[in-house]
Amino acid sequence: MVQIGRNNHIPRWAPGSVLSYVVCHETFPSLQHAAYASWGLVQGIALWRGAGVPFHHVTRDWPATFRVVYLDEPPTPSYTAIARSFYPSNEPPANRTLYVFGRAFEPAHVNSMASLMAHELGHIMGLRHELNVPGEELVEDWSATWMNPNPRSIMVRSGILRPPWTVQPSDVVGVRTFYAAPIVEIEGRQLVDFVPINSVYQAFSL
Ligand SMILES: [Zn+2]
Repeated sequence: MVQIGRNNHIPRWAPGSVLSYVVCHETFPSLQHAAYASWGLVQGIALWRGAGVPFHHVTRDWPATFRVVYLDEPPTPSYTAIARSFYPSNEPPANRTLYVFGRAFEPAHVNSMASLMAHELGHIMGLRHELNVPGEELVEDWSATWMNPNPRSIMVRSGILRPPWTVQPSDVVGVRTFYAAPIVEIEGRQLVDFVPINSVYQAFSL
């Protein structure tokens, strides 16, 4: 199962889209940190094999759908996440950023880099957080359940605290069927297909 939709619509990349990304290695504390995050992203992409949404790494100055940026702390002080990404949209290039925060490299989290990236890739493909427990009230804006619940989903919140945290077959099937579905609306919310916009990312700024 997956959760889809946000606010007043259900965002999805136009089926057949290729999502390209650039790693802004200069934002990381060291090239080793950047290489490790890049490795995690490649592993995370591999975990989604079969979902049918292709990701493609491009070199630093090439046009990309999104960028990967390191920040010591989340931009919002109260925010305690270890990474943050975005949903399908045609918003400005800066909004299409996968942030990796300093906490991701702390001992408690660093060995979960591949799962962390897979979770963020789920958001980028349009997935919302999965219910940890069936019937749980999500303290988030509207989303709809697609297929059957799976509390082991890579998209549970705080999954990093519940090893093994990895992409489940139901996650892959969920994305594949979501992207294959000719759905028009769920609960009155329209499905919106976004064609990826590729941008050249200059030196990082928030
Ligand atoms: Zn999340």
